[in-house]
Amino acid sequence: MSKRDYYEVLEVSKSVTEVELKKAYRKKALKYHPDKNPGDKEAEEKFKEAAEAYEVLSDPQKRARYDQYGHAGVGGAAGGGFGGGMNMEDIFSHFGDIFGSAFGGGFGGFSSRPQQVQGSNLRIRLSLTLKEIINGVEKTVKVKRFKLAQGATSKNCPTCNGTGQTRKIMNTPFGQMQTQSVCNTCGGTGKVADHIPPGANNHGLIKVEEEVSIKIPAGVREGVQLQVRGKGNDAPFGGIPGDLIVVIEEIEDEFLKREGDNLHYELYISVPEAILGTKKEVPTVTGKVKITVDSGTQSGKILRLKDKGLPLVQGYGYGDLFIHINVWTPNLSKLTKEQREFFETMLDNEHFHPKPSKNDKTFFEKIKDMFM
Ligand SMILES: [Zn+2]
Repeated sequence: MSKRDYYEVLEVSKSVTEVELKKAYRKKALKYHPDKNPGDKEAEEKFKEAAEAYEVLSDPQKRARYDQYGHAGVGGAAGGGFGGGMNMEDIFSHFGDIFGSAFGGGFGGFSSRPQQVQGSNLRIRLSLTLKEIINGVEKTVKVKRFKLAQGATSKNCPTCNGTGQTRKIMNTPFGQMQTQSVCNTCGGTGKVADHIPPGANNHGLIKVEEEVSIKIPAGVREGVQLQVRGKGNDAPFGGIPGDLIVVIEEIEDEFLKREGDNLHYELYISVPEAILGTKKEVPTVTGKVKITVDSGTQSGKILRLKDKGLPLVQGYGYGDLFIHINVWTPNLSKLTKEQREFFETMLDNEHFHPKPSKNDKTFFEKIKDMFM
């Protein structure tokens, strides 16, 4: 792959000053920074390309060689030294002053301090009834987690002397260069086990079962994740403990079907009830309520109980409860002879003939109305 001209890469002129150069590089670095372009290989290449260009042009000696001999003068064509490609770690550790101010203080893992180790997160599923969801609830669950064993101690890592980093001096055509990488012995923590009590693993952790109390706010939904800080696994030798992630599951209600913030209930009434009108009890999440079914109510009619649904996801208020009315028609085989004869005499009775008017809308039109 042929290299682009370094001045072109940073979009600066051959007479660029040190200050302008730094500014130009900073602009490119911010634009193609991996934090801003996660998983974007092209951006990463551009980020490296800009770093390499800046590395050469910001050094007066290298810049002079580059001006005279081009890429060959700074080792690019020879395939050695810096021109042979920089890795991300090099870039962050060499140009920390440029990134530092831009990204609020350095990068984890590339500073000279050991990494603060964090314990891993734990996940549990928690099933809630509609009632618990509406009101919010406090639950106590048993969690198996890794806890730092009593008496477990650590000492500074002998490989990196507790810094969490190992430094390597590389000889390049242009002098010695120092690279820094995460220590393999301690994984960057700067600590290794000193005393491990019986039963603990080599991180000094032991598995225990603990009760954790979880406050669940009102109105959560299936799939919502709550975070209980510090109730995941402990970190080896006193780092930050991980979190307990609680995934909410909804227990399906026997009678009430949920649809977003609204609830639906199927109410069955008999033919005589539909004709005569009646009062019925229907369940809501907060208890039973009595509703009136008017005389002449058609199957498919929907009654709406305002604010008897679930708390709204966005902001204050509640969804509604929709009562879907179904008229239950008995099978002929269940009727007595008299009942059968009664309905037979009604066959030609005009009051029993369907006469839907504009006001008797179809089911789908009613649904549409409801959501307008
Ligand atoms: Zn180490």
